[in-house]
Amino acid sequence: MLRIGLGRDLHRLLPGRRFLLGGVELPSPVGEQGHSDGDALVHALIDALLGAAGLGDIGELFPPNESAWQDADSLRLLAIAFGKVKAAGWSIVNIDAVVTCEAPKLLPHRATICASLASTLELPIDAVFVKGKTNEGCDTLGEGRAVEALVVCLLKQD
Ligand code: MG
Repeated sequence: MLRIGLGRDLHRLLPGRRFLLGGVELPSPVGEQGHSDGDALVHALIDALLGAAGLGDIGELFPPNESAWQDADSLRLLAIAFGKVKAAGWSIVNIDAVVTCEAPKLLPHRATICASLASTLELPIDAVFVKGKTNEGCDTLGEGRAVEALVVCLLKQD
């Protein structure tokens, strides 16, 4: 059986925060605001994984009002979510993602980001792909005040 999941996340960008995507820190004067480390790509991926497996969503698994998740490393949250998905008998076929922000450019960091996610999810590197887009100067994303991630994930169960 195959099942697909979709995840989406958006974080405000503020000075004094780290800009993390897929557990990789990108050079930037601003970074993601958030209860955890704010990694929008990882958060959207967690929702895609959980959604595909029928295991709820990131807010249920890691409630934002719980101090345990304050400044949490999002890759650790991803590993926990992946553990639940694996325990339910699912394996990941592939992951595809779009990250939208005006800056910084993703392309120089894309291979590192894909490798980081593939390593956490025990996948070959070619099973994870991340595309960087701008919002052409439009709206909050285009003004550089936020970053958005969209992720789809395909799971299989034998
Ligand atoms: Mg988030």
